[in-house]
Amino acid sequence: MDCIFCAIARGEMGTQLLYEDQDVVAFEDLHPQAPTHILVIPRRHYGSLQDVPPEDVGIVAGLARAAQELAVQRRIWPSGYRLVVNSGPEGGQTVSHLHLHLLGGRQMVWPPG
Ligand code: 5GP
Ligand code: ZN
Repeated sequence: MDCIFCAIARGEMGTQLLYEDQDVVAFEDLHPQAPTHILVIPRRHYGSLQDVPPEDVGIVAGLARAAQELAVQRRIWPSGYRLVVNSGPEGGQTVSHLHLHLLGGRQMVWPPG
C-alpha cells in the first residue's frame, strides 16, 4: 500500500517527528494553516476515523493524549487551540490515513470553512 503518512511514521521520509510513542507520531503539516499546525497520526493505517473498528477505538484517545502534550510543549495552551479530524470527501479529507490537525497560535474563527 502506498501511503505517505505510513512512510512518514516508519521514518522513511526524513520528516522530523515532534512526538512519538508506541502507537502515535506527530509532525509539522507541509502547508501550515496557523503558526502551529501539527498532524497527529496513528502508526497503524486507518483510512479515516470511520475505519477505526470498535476494538481499536482507544487509538483516538492516544491521539488526543499526544495533542495535549504537544499543546503544552508548543505553548498554545492555555491560550487555546483547535483539533480537527477531516473525514471523507465532504469533510475535506485529502490524505487517507487517519490524522488529527492540531492548530494554534492565532485566533480561530467559527464557523469553519
Ligand atoms: P486533510 O486534508 O486530509 O485533513 O489533511 C491532510 C494534510 O496533510 C494537509 O494539511 C496537507 O498539507 C498535509 N500533507 C499532505 N502531504 C504531506 C506530506 O507529505 N508531509 C506533511 N508533513 N504534510 C502533508
Ligand atoms: Zn497510512
